Amino acid sequence: MSNFTLQGPKRGLNVIKKEVEKALADLGGQLHIPADFPIVIRLHESRANYEKRIGMKTPPWHVGNTSADGSIDILHPNSFEKQSSHPKSDFIKILKHELWHAFAKKIVGAAAIPVWLNEGIAMYVAGQVDQYKNQRGYYIEENYVAKLSTEYGWSVYANHDAYKHACLFTSFLIEKYSFEKILGLLRSLNKNYYHPQFEEKFKEIFGISLSEAERNFANQ
Ligand SMILES: [Zn+2]
Repeated sequence: MSNFTLQGPKRGLNVIKKEVEKALADLGGQLHIPADFPIVIRLHESRANYEKRIGMKTPPWHVGNTSADGSIDILHPNSFEKQSSHPKSDFIKILKHELWHAFAKKIVGAAAIPVWLNEGIAMYVAGQVDQYKNQRGYYIEENYVAKLSTEYGWSVYANHDAYKHACLFTSFLIEKYSFEKILGLLRSLNKNYYHPQFEEKFKEIFGISLSEAERNFANQ
């Protein structure tokens, strides 16, 4: 049984509640993990309120955020067209993306997930892969994901295809290996992220080094 609290303007709230229920059931089925943990979702009608709540300025595509405590802030679907670069129909994808981050917290507890992997899985489960698949090619740096592991590294590359690389490389891993292996990798993570240790776990689970997997991906 899902266990979420949805906060926002009363009008239309029941419709959105149904969408959250369905998204949670979909995700739970996809991950084989029940959505039985508490989730708080706050809908914001204005970007100003959204930014005030999450405590930062945001670009027009930024419409969802999951906080360290696992609670979710998201722009109200009725405000998408006026206050963001997304069509209203993107709401479900954004919702699923953020719900993944809440599931991720349940899966790993206090462990640190490399940012590219967390974002990559979020985009995969949310159905956001196609938007990148059909775009032009891009330059893949050697050992790119190593640079995209920390919040700092991610912020440096966020405007330079970081989302695209995270999304396409993660979906490559899921499709070539399996989602189970990805979940196994997540469960092997420790509280403090240490890249050499992550590489070791990766090799143990995937039978190939992370840089080799990245090269295979780049060459396809
Ligand atoms: Zn995300």
